[in-house]
Amino acid sequence: MLRDSFGRVATDLRVSLTDKCNLRCTYCMPPEGLDWLPNPQLLTADEIVRLVTIGVERLGITEVRYTGGEPLLRRELADVVARTTALTPRPQVSLTTNGIGLARLAGALADAGLDRVNISLDTLDPGTFKRLAHRDRHADVIAGLAAADEAGLRPVKVNAVLMRGVNDHEAVPLLRWCLDQGYELRFIEQMPLDAQHGWSREGMVTADEILDLLSASFDLAADDLEERGSAPAERFLVNGGPARVGVIGSVTRPFCGSCDRVRLTADGQVRNCLFATEESDLKTPMRAGASDDELAERWVAAVARKRAGHGIDDPSFLQPARPMSAIGG
Ligand code: SAM
Repeated sequence: MLRDSFGRVATDLRVSLTDKCNLRCTYCMPPEGLDWLPNPQLLTADEIVRLVTIGVERLGITEVRYTGGEPLLRRELADVVARTTALTPRPQVSLTTNGIGLARLAGALADAGLDRVNISLDTLDPGTFKRLAHRDRHADVIAGLAAADEAGLRPVKVNAVLMRGVNDHEAVPLLRWCLDQGYELRFIEQMPLDAQHGWSREGMVTADEILDLLSASFDLAADDLEERGSAPAERFLVNGGPARVGVIGSVTRPFCGSCDRVRLTADGQVRNCLFATEESDLKTPMRAGASDDELAERWVAAVARKRAGHGIDDPSFLQPARPMSAIGG
């Protein structure tokens, strides 16, 4: 088991398949993009599947989420998903994506056994999308959402980050639209993980503000706390349910005490937290011939060192060197 010194057990593995992305969302990276990891440093599909297999078969991982960067940019994605869903015990397998290209790929991913998707959509307005993501791809995201739903990758969850003065007036329209489409919307507080270090506490639209904005138009009732478990989103029944909306207050309402996540970067580093400043290298020993037992031991030791919390409120907090796109959100 992947147990840390505070007794938390990691069962939810987030795997970044690439640090590359075809959008440039301002809360994540600069318009010119970043220096991507050189290809030889990226885990191959076989290496990814080997590490995921160790996680699932030996270390108690029950959920695998493929992310990035943009995971749909990895050509081997459907193959990696198929090999993951073939594992015993079979993990839940999901994808976090910007949805671009999903209109073409959703069927193949569903055939590979993918259970569901989280798709990022911050605005209903193509012009705002272009300003926020520096690419004119709004229609592709909307088509990707529809294709995911059509392919049965449900519940289709939508992730939205609100930015003050950019799209914070869209909280209500976004929820109304998601309710109409049958998608489950989750608002994520903007976190200090952008490559440009442009985040500020004052600029962040907080969970409290989001709930105030929504409450003006919807009747929200907190969902059963028991049901939340280790989920990052606080969920609320909308207008009596059954539809729900989630709010992920990573900064102002941290949920580190019940965190069950561990991350694997596209270059094979184990990270215990989005905000971790330490990583444990599995790629180098794997390429040097380490056995599955040895890799599992290193992984167990890495998780044992997990910190109590993300520490954003500590005076000594330092933003991690890797931006969100290179960690895997
Ligand atoms: N490219 C994929 C996507 O767009 O969903 C997967 C990777 S992306 C890093 C995963 C999620 O992280 C997205 O929903 C994105 O909006 C969110 N995200 C990125 N930077 C963020 C930040 N600084 N604060 C909060 N959420 C962020």
